[in-house]
Amino acid sequence: MTDPPEPGAGEARPPRYVDKTLAEDVFLDDEREPDEIHEVYAPGGADEDGEHAPEPPPWREPEDAGEVPSRAHPCWSCAAQVPAGAESCPECLESARHLRLISTRPRVDVRHGSCGPLHLGRLPSWAPLVAGALDGERGVSRRHAVLELTGDGALWLTENAEGTVNGTFVDDERIAPGVRVPVTDGATVRLGTHCAFTVLVVRPPHG
Ligand SMILES: [Zn+2]
Repeated sequence: MTDPPEPGAGEARPPRYVDKTLAEDVFLDDEREPDEIHEVYAPGGADEDGEHAPEPPPWREPEDAGEVPSRAHPCWSCAAQVPAGAESCPECLESARHLRLISTRPRVDVRHGSCGPLHLGRLPSWAPLVAGALDGERGVSRRHAVLELTGDGALWLTENAEGTVNGTFVDDERIAPGVRVPVTDGATVRLGTHCAFTVLVVRPPHG
């Protein structure tokens, strides 16, 4: 099941594998014809979860093919067309370069530009982008920390100056309250003991 298909397997169907022993065992307790039972164990029709093997995705035009360097791209914030090479969106004025905060548990995937800090905490009025996902995360304070992407592309994290009960960590290193510390692209930022995020700097396509 885990082996990749042989080259050319699409044109000539390989002979079906039938576990005779298994089929006969089942047949002893089953009044169906053996052929029907063979279908049940035929490989290729179903995977281990009983679902059909996924079909290959339809072919699409490559979006950022290198041969079209001057193409505009959609703004991450408002989807307006941003000219290649522009530093910010002409519609919403958000910076083309932005940070992306990702976590699978709790499920978070937010983007934020360089116009002010991204607030991280459980208080909805203070941290509107993440408070909903962090609701119920007891290890996270209501006003926990702020993450900033500055105009030069640097990332900074600052824990609430009053401190937090469970701490704030960058790549497992606890940071001090109220001190702005640098965060590298791809680092793990953790609020409390187990609420961890990956922080990425997303750069616009080159013009
Ligand atoms: Zn925009």
